[in-house]
Amino acid sequence: MKDASSLEGLPRRVVAMIAQHGEMTRADIALKLGISKGRVSVITTHLLDQRIIEHHASISGARRPSALLRLSPSAATFIGISLHCRPFIAVATDPNGNTIFQHAFYSDSDPDSCIESICDAIDVLRKNCSISARFLAVGLSLPGYISADKQTCITSTVLGWENAEIGHEIARVVGLPVYLENDTNALATYEAMFGSMRRVPAFAIVAVGDGIGTAYTMNHTVYRGENGGAGELAHLPIAPGLFDGVPRPCRCGNRGCLETIASSRGISSRAEEEGLPQDLGRLSNLAREGNEKALHILHTAAAALSFSMSNLIQILDPSHLIVVLPEELLHGVFAIALRQTFEQNLMPGFKRVNLLILQRHNTFHWAVGAACVAARSVLLSPHP
Ligand SMILES: [Zn+2]
Repeated sequence: MKDASSLEGLPRRVVAMIAQHGEMTRADIALKLGISKGRVSVITTHLLDQRIIEHHASISGARRPSALLRLSPSAATFIGISLHCRPFIAVATDPNGNTIFQHAFYSDSDPDSCIESICDAIDVLRKNCSISARFLAVGLSLPGYISADKQTCITSTVLGWENAEIGHEIARVVGLPVYLENDTNALATYEAMFGSMRRVPAFAIVAVGDGIGTAYTMNHTVYRGENGGAGELAHLPIAPGLFDGVPRPCRCGNRGCLETIASSRGISSRAEEEGLPQDLGRLSNLAREGNEKALHILHTAAAALSFSMSNLIQILDPSHLIVVLPEELLHGVFAIALRQTFEQNLMPGFKRVNLLILQRHNTFHWAVGAACVAARSVLLSPHP
């Protein structure tokens, strides 16, 4: 059986097309590649024989049902590692985004310790997958800016890294190509390939956690910018002049960035300053009971975030904006204030049903997103 990444010419383009869209009919492939259905039929028959693709399902056509083709689960295995939050998560997935094995691990934050822990985690995954698994690449997602060649973390205020050249080092140890990506970009890649945004060409994600991550897609593909930081909102200097008090220092070295007010960490810090519990669940309960300080903290956090989100909508015009929130902020005062102020800030022309989607944080989606980055980097790269 041939390796899905070793194909050349049109068969490689057909596999890339299927990998990008998840599942396709022969007619869709012909249309997208601008070649005849007969030619597609010859290529897909060959790929079916090689067990690189498989019949997945059928959909009703004008005359008869059309077969949906997808990559064969045995054609490739990808590894995804997420350093988004602790514990760190490692997954092995098939080319269709299904998790074969998952493993949680801890590590010290310095790059050398992380490299060692990541290599150990990859070893655990390999030992727990079938001996016939064909590992093709590793995706590593982390909160930070990533170089264009996806080998170096240029800066991560969350991890405290500067110019950490870890991609090549991990690749040398594990013997697989390694691709780094900003964690929210990786999550957007998951949503675009296998999640709820699968057939949505232009959407954006804002993820609220320890920091605030942002990503967006254009024509089904995540737009990275030069360093994987396109659209980032976390360090917008939003506080000075807009909100109360002296702008708070941010981990980036500036003052008054959005994340100092609206991230989980920012909200907890403000609660501590006011003598309130730092735990977001307890703070939300206090706000629900009418505690004025708790209400003020959550309202200003929601207002600051929604102000930035409405700017994002005006600039990018996505059809959907997913806001990923920790469980404690997903219901109650923060979520209600976020929806209300977002609605008020939007220009009437941008007000659409289902534009704003509040979504629960799911640790594993971030790791599968890293595996999706690996799959895209290998299968969608220009054919040799
Ligand atoms: Zn900052």
